[in-house]
Amino acid sequence: MAVSAARQEGRESGGPGQRHLTSTDEQGRFCVARCSCGWRGPARRARSQARTDAEGHLAAP
Ligand SMILES: [Zn+2]
Repeated sequence: MAVSAARQEGRESGGPGQRHLTSTDEQGRFCVARCSCGWRGPARRARSQARTDAEGHLAAP
């Protein structure tokens, strides 16, 4: 029996640890991975590296 963990995404209850929506933010020459939970990755020179940081955060928040 499969457990249905899917929920409707109509609401956004801004509680911490609820959702992890990562994005990259450019800061001058650097790019930093950010998350909706407040997490921030280290400054990277390459956006691809910042994305890798974000993926790592999603894997282990
Ligand atoms: Zn997060």
